[in-house]
Amino acid sequence: MSQYKRNNYEILKEQALEFLGGKDCCVCHNNYLPICCYDFHHYKNAKEENISGMMQRKNKLDEELKQELLKCKVICSNCHRQVTSRIIVIRNDNI
Ligand SMILES: [Zn+2]
Repeated sequence: MSQYKRNNYEILKEQALEFLGGKDCCVCHNNYLPICCYDFHHYKNAKEENISGMMQRKNKLDEELKQELLKCKVICSNCHRQVTSRIIVIRNDNI
């Protein structure tokens, strides 16, 4: 049996992913990767707070975190890297 115990951050990340509809990359739509391979991509222009920073200092999915998550789409780390490098362009109306 695995001795691996999920830490608070991982549990909160799982809850945050569920809140946004579960593991489903908004670009390539894969849903089979481990949770650590999914990121939250801010797609609205409003000045964002860093989701992973927020999750690190919180211990539950509170209203503030939910409000920030609603400005994000779930994206896998491969696609996120390409978005950051502007290889993939996400427009608000096609995701
Ligand atoms: Zn993807």
